[in-house]
Amino acid sequence: CAAQSDKAHGFDRIFGIETEYGVSVTGADRPCDAGQVAMTMFRPVVSRARSTNTYLPNGSRLYLDVGSHPEYATAEARDPLDALAQDLAGEAVMRRLALQAQERLRAAYGGRATIHVYKNNADSAGHSFGCHENYLVRRYVPLETIERELLPFLITRQPFTGAGRVTPDGFRVTQRADFLDEAVSSATTRARPMVNTRDEPHADPDSYRRLHVIIGDSNRSQFATAMKLATTHLVLCAIEHAARSGEPSGLEGCALADPNAANRAVSRDLTGGREARLRLADPQAFGMHGGGGAVTPLELQYRYLSVVDAFLDRHGDRVAASMPVGRSRRVRDLWARVLDDLSAGRLDRLADRVDWVAKKRLVDALRARRPDVPLARLEQIDMDYHDVANGTVYETLVRRGAMLRLVDARGVEESLGAPPRDTRAALRGLFVRTAEAAGARYSCDWTHVALTTPVRREAAMIDPFDAEPTPEFAALLDALCRTADGGPAS
Ligand code: ATP
Ligand code: MG
Ligand code: MG
Repeated sequence: CAAQSDKAHGFDRIFGIETEYGVSVTGADRPCDAGQVAMTMFRPVVSRARSTNTYLPNGSRLYLDVGSHPEYATAEARDPLDALAQDLAGEAVMRRLALQAQERLRAAYGGRATIHVYKNNADSAGHSFGCHENYLVRRYVPLETIERELLPFLITRQPFTGAGRVTPDGFRVTQRADFLDEAVSSATTRARPMVNTRDEPHADPDSYRRLHVIIGDSNRSQFATAMKLATTHLVLCAIEHAARSGEPSGLEGCALADPNAANRAVSRDLTGGREARLRLADPQAFGMHGGGGAVTPLELQYRYLSVVDAFLDRHGDRVAASMPVGRSRRVRDLWARVLDDLSAGRLDRLADRVDWVAKKRLVDALRARRPDVPLARLEQIDMDYHDVANGTVYETLVRRGAMLRLVDARGVEESLGAPPRDTRAALRGLFVRTAEAAGARYSCDWTHVALTTPVRREAAMIDPFDAEPTPEFAALLDALCRTADGGPAS
């Protein structure tokens, strides 16, 4: 009980990333649509799990909803670097499924059929699909606080988290901003498309929310994936502390007058946040007198940095459960360095860690060599950058050492087989591996695992922080092992 309440009031976090992928095929001798590609990719999944919705031995969820966007949702992680490794395992899963499916398609549709699996957020037909970040947040943080104090951070972090996009109207810093704008239906629901308020905590609902952030881009850059989680975590820590203690957070003045307009402006600001002017809801609360009531994205980011600095000075040691003290400081320093480079206009220094900068550099270089290069060619480079199955643009950058890597190929391989050790995902992974070895039928969701035949037995796992088997879980595993040995399951 004491441990539970410690967590409920501490700064531990659960992180999860859901990534929807876009698929297509080129080089086929006859028409083959994205739906067929996705179904062909999922054929081995269906034959193993008898469903297009399954959990993997590393505790993650792999599924294909209606439509043609395979999705991978990482297992629960307590550390942004573990979440990154799990997300990279998702890329590897997609690549493997795609290359196997490609073999089958080549037999049926011609020898040059090539499958593309895009870790991006927009297809050529103008559809947008998501990358959702999930953060466990204490229930006592009101949703209005998230909207007023977190949303401006999520909007202005995009100069270092944006994946970049080539469009007929020019280059964009983000993949999503233009689409989220279309999703706006009324003034009162403005913030919803960026942060979904659906209440499904997958944990004790009295203590926690699962914050469901949908404003972000899918990243190829490992740095961007880890930093978006880590910096958001630090800001959430400061917000949670203020909500609990009743002290002011220092972020009261950050609320934006028009979050959607701000989001679009950030996406169009190719200086990386020095020029866009974002109108504040209450300039005086920000401490601004005069100046037209608008700030740049970077001015807002520096406000967040200073609030996090003050928070870490006072409470840094208590954040250690989710990120060791040294690492919180390191994240803070890397974040400050990115902001300093952006505000000094040193975009070149960010090309090894910020997707939109890396991509824009390639596009600009090609334009400089061939001023008449057609838009279609630039769009192709953009798409190839995100293709985890057969893409060469991003892979070449990595091979040349031009992209920072935090997890190497061995780390990715390990996280394909192993969930994070310090969350309930460890139990789910163990259950899935054991059930598969036993040839048993089973099912999972985030808070349960169940053996479905020969008898139905299930175990609940309501606390995402708890990696210790309950007696119920141990009994279930025991039943599974007996199934494997050919004995009765109950
Ligand atoms: P969708 O948006 O696709 O309809 P969804 O948001 O309900 O679905 P999933 O796609 O199943 O959910 O992914 C859930 C994500 O939330 C996973 O990455 C998982 O690790 C993470 N997660 C699970 N429990 C928690 C929790 N208590 N707090 C934060 N994140 C969690
Ligand atoms: Mg999902
Ligand atoms: Mg989701």
